[in-house]
Amino acid sequence: MPGKERYALVDCNQFYVSCERVFRPQLWNKPVGVLSNNDGCLVALSPEMKALGIKRGVPAFKINDLVKKHDIQLFSSNYGLYGDLSARVMQILSEFTPELEIYSIDEAFLRLDSLKISDWQEYGRKMRGMIMKWVGLPVSVGLGPTKTLAKIANRVAKKFPGYQGVFDITDHPKLEAILQWIQVEDIWGVGYRYAQKLNSYGIKTAWDLSKADYKWVQQQMTIVGLRTVKELNGISCLDMELDMVPKKQIISSRSFGHPVSELNELLEAVADYCQVATLKLRQQHSLASSIMVYLTTNRFRDEPQYANYAGFKLATPSAYVPDFIKTASDLLRSIYRPGYKFKKVGVMLSNIIAEGQAPLDFFDRVYIDDERKIVMDCLDKVNKVWGPGTLAYAAAGINKGWQMKRQLLSPSYTSNWWQLLRVNSDRTTKRLND
Ligand SMILES: [Mg+2]
Repeated sequence: MPGKERYALVDCNQFYVSCERVFRPQLWNKPVGVLSNNDGCLVALSPEMKALGIKRGVPAFKINDLVKKHDIQLFSSNYGLYGDLSARVMQILSEFTPELEIYSIDEAFLRLDSLKISDWQEYGRKMRGMIMKWVGLPVSVGLGPTKTLAKIANRVAKKFPGYQGVFDITDHPKLEAILQWIQVEDIWGVGYRYAQKLNSYGIKTAWDLSKADYKWVQQQMTIVGLRTVKELNGISCLDMELDMVPKKQIISSRSFGHPVSELNELLEAVADYCQVATLKLRQQHSLASSIMVYLTTNRFRDEPQYANYAGFKLATPSAYVPDFIKTASDLLRSIYRPGYKFKKVGVMLSNIIAEGQAPLDFFDRVYIDDERKIVMDCLDKVNKVWGPGTLAYAAAGINKGWQMKRQLLSPSYTSNWWQLLRVNSDRTTKRLND
């Protein structure tokens, strides 16, 4: 194969399920599932659960009987836990190469060609072993000369236990058989629509596509499709995307656990979302000057419907929570109408600039130079050390009856002191009782 590039794609196996198992090893080899927001439907399931014929996406209420019959363990989505364990995995991977692209919460590309490694299979196993030992999560490692082939290699690693979670596709003698095994719709970057089109031309597998005429591919699938085909042939066309581009818009919004009609509850939710959105803003060292608030009823219900939004531009860009809570509350009051059952409110920040780019203002001091920044730094530091929400604005409410339904939530084992795993033994219990 041409080129000397070497990529790895590391992907956590059934990530959400595996995260729930880290602190409950008794769940290994048992059917385990994770539910979407408001405990709506299944978003992740263990192989044991798949073996029972249950599929991703089914509404939770439809599997009640199976859950009882097979003692299936269901969990609400614990994004705090998943995010924290993900960060630990990425931290470990970053020690293997400076060129790490975090592709999603549970997947990363590593570029490895600057390393002098004689046994790549062994190297992959080392990565896998370290993540298992330090974080407790099983991963699969796919190695190849292009990102697209590394993705395919990862599939092989995951599918065939004989490879023990690591597969290097580079110059593999069975390359043809592997590419014959991969359907076009399963190739990274080939969407469902293109797959259908390719099928209609008799191109069914990755092998078929790799043999297609480059010119024809470019006509049918643009330059983007051509890159994919070249990548299948071992010609690296997709670079690492290393720069984390700051977001131009930040949205914080969630559906409520149950319909909300009271203005006070909506104000709490909006204040809470201002906290979440401005935290994201500060984490990327940005300021925002525009804010929009929106609210909507549930259009799938046969009830009176109402939806509206309103926006405002702050005098100077800011990342200070109270600046946004105050404005958002005024905006919400202006669009709120009593008598409706609201399903969702949201806050969107835009006109985002880097902290250092804030224009000087004749009348107001710039955020980065005034006490607002000091207060926010303190807030973030405390919440980082003591867990999210340790310090919060009272405007966001205490009981939060509007919050999404998460009745099956596991503890925040890694991000909240009060929810750390407790180890009980007779001796410690006795000591505590003394
Ligand atoms: Mg995964």
